[in-house]
Formats: sequence, structure tokens, C-alpha cells
Amino acid sequence: MRPPWWMEGVAFSCQANCGKCCDEPGGIVYLSITDAERISKHHGMEVEEWLERDCRQTLDGRYVLKSREVDDVCIYLDQNKQCTIYTVRPQQCAAFPWWSENLATDRAWREVKETCPGLTADDALIIDGEAIRIHVFADRESTKGFRSWPPWNRKVR
Ligand code: SF4
Repeated sequence: MRPPWWMEGVAFSCQANCGKCCDEPGGIVYLSITDAERISKHHGMEVEEWLERDCRQTLDGRYVLKSREVDDVCIYLDQNKQCTIYTVRPQQCAAFPWWSENLATDRAWREVKETCPGLTADDALIIDGEAIRIHVFADRESTKGFRSWPPWNRKVR
């Protein structure tokens, strides 16, 4: 089987003060189990308490970050378009633009290139295919998500 096109490396450099990928009304950030543990700890909260305060569940039960009522943008993006939990941000956020859905087709990738200036920036550096692969798996893990806490207590029917 041929390796995916991006295994040869892709030029990218996230641009300071951009925030375009976060400033997206209706955007959904799926959470992994380790995201919930890390971010709740950052806030000095129990995981259940943090899930109740800052998260919601999708129709199929997966936990995602809440959005602001006023503009439907992530609650952690401040008025300067900065992530207020950047150092502990969800792995799906850290994995952008290397999401499976972005890499899957030429058309999807063209659209991402049009919206993410980091992919066409003059200071872009080649990101190694192995590094991209790690992000792809992280995104997949987050998209799978979890539906209860603790996740290992889920009732088996
Ligand atoms: S849109 Fe691209 S360049 Fe801008 S913050 Fe997101 S990843 Fe970085």
C-alpha cells in the first residue's frame, strides 16, 4: 500500500496572533480522556466538575467543549483571539491542520490551505510525516471521544 501523500512532509508554521482555526462559530472540539484529565487539573477541578462547567455532550453522547452563547465560538478563546488554556489545550486543537478529514481529499486540503495561513506562510518549515502521523492519530482518538466519566465505568448492555 502506498504511504499517504503527506508522509513526505508538509510545509507549515502556525502564525502568531492568527487564531483563525479557533475563531469558528459552530466549531466542535472533541475531547480525549487525557484532555479531560489534563484540563480539569489545570483548573484545579475534579474531572466531573469541569465536564459539568465547561463541556457539553453531543447528540450521540460524546463530550465536547462548550461554546459561548453570544457567538457560538469556543469558551476558551479570548477577545484577542488567544487560547486561554494554550499550554494544556485539547489534542484535537494541537493537531490542526493535520485532521483526518482535512487530509482525506484534495478538495478538503485545498479548503484548509485557503483558511490556514500557516500552510502558505513564508516562514513555513517542513513538518515531518511521522510528526503528522502522530497528530492524525491524536485527532482520531479525540473524535472517538468518551461518553461518561469515569469512562471505564460505562454500563455494558
Ligand atoms: S489557522 Fe493555521 S496559522 Fe492560524 S492559528 Fe490556526 S493553525 Fe495557526
